Amino acid sequence: MTLPNTTTPLPPRTVRCPACGGPSLYAQDNVHRPFCGQRCKSMDFGAWASEQFALPEILSDQDPPLERS
Ligand SMILES: [Zn+2]
Repeated sequence: MTLPNTTTPLPPRTVRCPACGGPSLYAQDNVHRPFCGQRCKSMDFGAWASEQFALPEILSDQDPPLERS
């Protein structure tokens, strides 16, 4: 079964890389989009993963120190 090839390729577009803030080619060629490259993609995922897997610090008996102004 063959699907008709009606998908139009994304027009070349430049977006801002969420990791480094630099220009990132938002096209089908860029497999790391919306990141500008593998490095930024890994960086962002690493941050996300560490945040996800980090257990929240539970303060049960101790109240957080109040800020004095
Ligand atoms: Zn980047």
